[in-house]
Amino acid sequence: MGRLDPPSITLQNLSVQYGHKTIIHALSGEFKPGSLTAIVGPNGGGKSTLLKAILKLIPNVTGEIKFQHAIPQEVAYLAQQNLIDRQFPLTVSDTVALGLFRKLGLFARVSEDDKKAIQNALVRVGLEGYENSPLEALSGGQFQRVLFARLILQNSPIIFLDEPFNAIDMRTIEDLMDIVNEWRQEGRLIVVVLHDIDLVRDFFPETLLLARNLIGWGKTEDILTQDRLIEAMHTSRTWDGEGIHHHG
Ligand code: ADP
Ligand code: MG
Repeated sequence: MGRLDPPSITLQNLSVQYGHKTIIHALSGEFKPGSLTAIVGPNGGGKSTLLKAILKLIPNVTGEIKFQHAIPQEVAYLAQQNLIDRQFPLTVSDTVALGLFRKLGLFARVSEDDKKAIQNALVRVGLEGYENSPLEALSGGQFQRVLFARLILQNSPIIFLDEPFNAIDMRTIEDLMDIVNEWRQEGRLIVVVLHDIDLVRDFFPETLLLARNLIGWGKTEDILTQDRLIEAMHTSRTWDGEGIHHHG
C-alpha cells in the first residue's frame, strides 16, 4: 500500500435523519486499523445509509466521524448495484481504468505502466482476454469481477463494499472473497455489507449488527448470537413494511 500508518475510523453518536425519520440513532464505535468488518441487519436497517454517512455522501448526519491517517475521499467505495450501471457503453478495460481516476484526473492519457496495471488486475480477477468486451456482454458475476479489478487499481487503504455478492454465483463469490482476504493481509481497513451470515462467520472477524439502532459491534462470534439476530429481526417488524419495497 505504500503508507506507514494504517487508517482507522471512529464514530461518536452518529445519527442520520431522512425527513423526520431517524434512520440511524446515536451509533458509536471504531473500525480499527486493519480490521475486516461485516455490516449485517434487516432490509431498511440503515446499512447503506451508514456507509454513505461515513463517506459524507448524504446530508442530515449528526455526531462525529473521525478518520485517522486517511480522508473520506480516499475510500474505495463499491455502492450497492443496480442494473442500470451496465447500460454504459464502456469496455472492460475502460471501466477498470476508472480506478486510476484519482491518480490521473479526467482527461489524462493512460501510460504503459497503467496499462500493465490494468492487465494485471484483470488477470487477478480471472478476466484475462476480456479487455475489449462491452460491459453489456458480461454476466453478473463477470461484471462484479470488473468492479473488483477497478478496486484493485484504486489501491486504497480503506475499502467499503455494499452487498458485493448479491445475485452472484458461488464460484465468483469465492474468487472475490479471496481478493478481500488478500487486501486484509495487506493491512487495509475493509467494511462489507452482507446478507450471507455463513459467509460472515467464515471470513469476517468483526461484525456490526444494525437495525437502525446498533444491536451489536465487536467480534463476530460475540455479535451473531441467536438472541441478537432475533432482536434485529423483531425491530424491523415495527418499520411498517417500509423496507419491503425499498432496496436502495
Ligand atoms: P439497508 O441498506 O440496510 O437496506 P438503507 O440504508 O438503504 O437500508 O435504508 C434505510 C431506510 O432509510 C430505508 O428503509 C428507507 O426508509 C430510508 N431511506 C433510504 N434512502 C432514503 C432516501 N434517499 N430518502 C428517504 N428515505 C430513505
Ligand atoms: Mg442497502
